[in-house]
Amino acid sequence: MKTAREYIDSMKRMRFELYMFGEQVTTHVDNPIIRPAMNCMAATYELAEDSKFPQYQELMTATSHLTGKKINRFCHIHQSVEDLVNKSKMGRVLGAYTGSCFQRCVGMDALNALSMVTYDIDGKYGTGYNSRFLKFLRYVQDEDLVCDGAMTDAKGDRGRRPSEQADPDQYLHVVEEKPNGIVVRGNKMHQTGAVNSHEIICMPTRAMLEEDKDYAIVFALPSDSQGIIYIYGRQPCDTRKIESPNMDVGNVLYGGQECMVVFDDVFVPWERVFMYKEYDFAGDLVEKFASYHRQSYACKSGMGDVLIGASQLIAEYQGTSKASHIRDKIIDMIQLNETMMSCSLACAYEGHREGSGTYFVDVLRANVSKLNVARFPYDIARLAQDIAGGAIATMPSEKDLKHPRIGKYVAKYLQGVERIPVENRIRMLRLIENLTMGLGAACYLAESMHGAGSPMAQRIMIARQTDVERMKGSAKRLCGIDP
Ligand code: SF4
Ligand code: FE
Repeated sequence: MKTAREYIDSMKRMRFELYMFGEQVTTHVDNPIIRPAMNCMAATYELAEDSKFPQYQELMTATSHLTGKKINRFCHIHQSVEDLVNKSKMGRVLGAYTGSCFQRCVGMDALNALSMVTYDIDGKYGTGYNSRFLKFLRYVQDEDLVCDGAMTDAKGDRGRRPSEQADPDQYLHVVEEKPNGIVVRGNKMHQTGAVNSHEIICMPTRAMLEEDKDYAIVFALPSDSQGIIYIYGRQPCDTRKIESPNMDVGNVLYGGQECMVVFDDVFVPWERVFMYKEYDFAGDLVEKFASYHRQSYACKSGMGDVLIGASQLIAEYQGTSKASHIRDKIIDMIQLNETMMSCSLACAYEGHREGSGTYFVDVLRANVSKLNVARFPYDIARLAQDIAGGAIATMPSEKDLKHPRIGKYVAKYLQGVERIPVENRIRMLRLIENLTMGLGAACYLAESMHGAGSPMAQRIMIARQTDVERMKGSAKRLCGIDP
């Protein structure tokens, strides 16, 4: 297993074609906008280090079913219900440790979904995808790599299928078949942790029909392969990270990362292709990946832990913590946060073994879990802003606090409870600002809404997974109607 330092060093060797703010970025590891997100990914290695965090060994590591070696859980294929439960708990621990999206779940969820779907395609068509995939998986486990699980296409006109688009590149597709591989063109949007990844795994974004079969492809490539172009996504207040000093950033250690990823005629060798035109399995892969990823949103309960802690502290710093309505609001936040976590755990505990041997979450509860996540962080954020007060939106900058003439006024009039240094109050308010409307809100709110699929996708799955006929039968029986 790699240490956090070895992970950062491995990123220095990647040669991404990366653009940000209209300029090409060549030394991305030391870029002040990117580095906090990379540090966040590095935390997925750091917490797995036995010498630093022995208490997290059970959550952060697992035994490979391929080699019997100890590996990082993010590279593991779930072999039991206990593995699924530990995955949910790991997400919460890392969410609380970083206060951010730590980005590595997408790869874990893609690997697990592919371990099942490649097996199922082989079962129907006699293809050899599963052994190809397992060879790739072994490489990922042995090298302890980060994979970006890339699903979301640009989609163009949402009312049209992939093959009906005016621009055929709106969904990633194959444009040429060669003796030794294929050439692909298109785009993947909203790619979490893209330039913190060693490998990119591309999957279809929706169910496909026969006429869409050129779009029904799955492959993995080194993330810095020729022809892959990364365009860094903006986040609220992102340039605060290049101001110095850094109190105004709120979360001074970590952050998230999203990129637009362009595939400009990229070559993929056959040994890295794990689905090729088996369009009837595209929908199944989407459902499996999405269900795993909806479970992964236990990360937001970890971020919720940070926001609840910050809200309690700011109430103490401002002298309001004993007011009964503040105590009620904190309890409401805890209830919402624990409800999210409970659903993620429930879909793990109700998991089952699939034909390939991989353990899969309970689909209904995974979708209920993510639908909660699409709403509850907004409610928690509203309560946090209520407790914090208006200063989160009006405070002068750190440079004003340190200014020789006006600094004394900023300090005097932002002072709260006497024994608490004014700087602590400002830092805590900035953290709440970060999580509820700044950099961290990109992960805590917008990503909670749309990550792992927008709420409507979960509603469709919940409707499909629920046996309403059984419920109608219960109701009829109890009021004396013959069911
Ligand atoms: Fe993982 Fe959560 Fe980030 Fe998704 S939003 S990659 S589940 S930390
Ligand atoms: Fe996400």
